[in-house]
Amino acid sequence: MKNRNFVNLNVNPCKCCMPMGASIAFKGIESTMVLLHGSQGCSTYIRRHMAGHYNEPIDIASSSLNEKETIHGGAENLKKGLKNTLRLYNPKMIGISTTCLAETIGEDLQRIITEFKEEEPLYRDRVFVPVSTPGYGGTNYEGFYFTLRKILETIAVDTTPTDSINIIAGNLTPADIRKIKEILNLFDIRYTILPDVSKTLDAPFTTDYQKLSSEGTKIKDIEKMAGASITIEMGMLISEDLSPGKYLEETYGIPLYRCPLPIGLKNTDDFIEILEKITGKEMPEKLKEDRGRMLDGMIDSHKHNAEGRAAIFGEPDTVYAVTKLCLENGIQPLLISTGTKATKLKRLLELDLKKQDEGCMILDDTDLETIRHYVKELGANILIGTSEGKFITERDGVPLVRIGFPIHDRVGAQRRTYTAYEGSMQFLDEITNTLIEEKYSHYRENMYEKYYQKG
Ligand code: SF4
Repeated sequence: MKNRNFVNLNVNPCKCCMPMGASIAFKGIESTMVLLHGSQGCSTYIRRHMAGHYNEPIDIASSSLNEKETIHGGAENLKKGLKNTLRLYNPKMIGISTTCLAETIGEDLQRIITEFKEEEPLYRDRVFVPVSTPGYGGTNYEGFYFTLRKILETIAVDTTPTDSINIIAGNLTPADIRKIKEILNLFDIRYTILPDVSKTLDAPFTTDYQKLSSEGTKIKDIEKMAGASITIEMGMLISEDLSPGKYLEETYGIPLYRCPLPIGLKNTDDFIEILEKITGKEMPEKLKEDRGRMLDGMIDSHKHNAEGRAAIFGEPDTVYAVTKLCLENGIQPLLISTGTKATKLKRLLELDLKKQDEGCMILDDTDLETIRHYVKELGANILIGTSEGKFITERDGVPLVRIGFPIHDRVGAQRRTYTAYEGSMQFLDEITNTLIEEKYSHYRENMYEKYYQKG
């Protein structure tokens, strides 16, 4: 069982589909509505997943294709859907994401949008961003970055130089985005962060319900991203053709700095070092304190962490960052896996993994059935990944520490901070405490078996 049994067959997928990533990216832009061009089930699935994870009302429109449109084309449905969405939500922007069905029948989104603008002069001032995201074309990971790139291709056209920097955020929690913004503010940097889900997917309670959030990255700021001084892209594994930062570099000559998601000590250091370099400023006192506390916490817990044998799974960049955090704390990653095709993962982690005693298996484009198989075979004692791993916990008793998207069986996923020194330490504490609990829940049983052989 090298990877999966059958080509094209996933059992318990370790991924979501491309329009899911597109929807999350669009939800980080002000006054933006998402319309999925496809059958209703796609938008129901995505709404349900996002509402369960973020605990927020998630509106996603659908062009509601049916048998008739599958044969004759869905242009009329899409135009009707656009008109209804504009009437009901009055958005500044509509992100139109295709689905398996729309791509299979070969829908030409750009042509349909051009026709719609000609037919409906009232809505010519609105921004329409079409994204080709068939479910079979990739995963939510590719869908997320590809959508950000398409947003930039459509909107970022103002090349007037600004003293602002671009931050391309990975698929992080709203609380993580707040943390990144806090760090940028400590450095007193002007920035545009894309996407900014900090308030759109984790909004404070108010009595007046707004159908669309006015929070998120401002469209006028996205326009100016073409004139920024530099771009920092969080993500080491995204391919060049999907990278929003690469697009800005190649099209407008904006220097690109890449760093991992700032989860873990070294990964956070990497992000801070870029900020120090571009501002010429030292790390602010607050961050120095946080860093010192993290180091102190790492020393406190290393003796427990040394017993960790981890199976890590999720989106490539989350998996990469979590692996680095495990390695710098003495937790042995035995299995590193992702549902996305991520051949770079092996190369990026090769040197780090060479230093550990036991070998480590890296699987990309895999599913949770395969992951379960190797969790047993390799003897992992902790799972670190999305809530989809709970089935392994239920069946085999290996505990799960949750990170990534989706998390459905716990509340507060949107409020969790994993990034920077503070968030990383809280996350590490959770891993350590899980290892301690796992050890003591079997301690007497294990000691008995070890020292009192059955006669
Ligand atoms: S995999 Fe295809 S059919 Fe299924 S929800 Fe995603 S886009 Fe829709």
